[in-house]
Amino acid sequence: MTRSCNEVVFGPVPSRRLGRSLGINNVFAKYCTYSCIYCQAGKTTNLTIERTTFYEPETLVNATIKALNRAGSVDYVTFVPNGEPTLDVNLGTEIRMLKNAIDTKIAVITNASLLYRSDVRQDLGLADLVSVKVDSSIESVYRILNRPHPKLSLETVLEGIRIFSREFPGALITETMLVRGVNDTVEDATSLLEVLRSIEPSVAYVMLPVRPPLEDWVLPPPADTVEAFLNVLRSGLGKNRVVLLGSLEPPHDVSYPRGNLSKILGHIRSVTRVHPLKLEYAVRLLVTNAGVTEKDALRALLNDPSLEVIHYMGQRFIKSRLVSQR
Ligand code: SF4
Repeated sequence: MTRSCNEVVFGPVPSRRLGRSLGINNVFAKYCTYSCIYCQAGKTTNLTIERTTFYEPETLVNATIKALNRAGSVDYVTFVPNGEPTLDVNLGTEIRMLKNAIDTKIAVITNASLLYRSDVRQDLGLADLVSVKVDSSIESVYRILNRPHPKLSLETVLEGIRIFSREFPGALITETMLVRGVNDTVEDATSLLEVLRSIEPSVAYVMLPVRPPLEDWVLPPPADTVEAFLNVLRSGLGKNRVVLLGSLEPPHDVSYPRGNLSKILGHIRSVTRVHPLKLEYAVRLLVTNAGVTEKDALRALLNDPSLEVIHYMGQRFIKSRLVSQR
């Protein structure tokens, strides 16, 4: 099951956690071990825990090096696919090959569900930074929120994360998505804190659903609920180790290379395969980086057959239609 590497590398994009990051979309849409209610990458069509081959490592690595040469300096090359990156059985080979070829640090954003496997821990151990998902420490909440493959249990997943945290020499961070009425109480925060203390992340990021989620009833909690949740985590981890990522887009990346309309549109198409972008943000990107008028930018986005407009919390977003077609 191999395909060409076209558009497997996207960005660089400005990331609030990683600075300027070149993204690698190393699995096909939508292979994941979870089907989270808040997922921005569409429905999980292949719910699996079997690791497999997606792209030939040489093709993926060559495409990354080529994109990196074009992009100039970036802070991280990041495996952040629209699915679960550790399902890629060649992940370790790819990281090793990249490390031999480039000086840039490597990050992997994973849902951590396969860290109970020693081969997955070995692969991720090669990265410089790993971000693991810990949305809840309660099995019933985990099942509602992450809708895991039936063979996964939260206890096994958390134990895998704990083992990895003891072995991993790089930077380990966690991410927790807060959903209104699902995992946002002080009791949720208190039991999560216990788990986070056993993992000792350098930073625990708390995120809010600000882009269109898979289930349209998913909403961020009210501000006072978020604050109460954060205060519990801060009380145990310290103020500086708990960071809320609640805004929609990071600052506009003026350093993204300039290009013509079709080049910048190509960039937008590849980014929106992984997550939707606010329509206004994409318009601004075209105006700034392709030098077109606002009217022409809007027309180009709305007339692009590979993009669709979706609405969430009173805002318009664009998303690649290819997310659900591959
Ligand atoms: S949010 Fe991540 S872990 Fe959850 S379904 Fe989407 S890709 Fe998978």
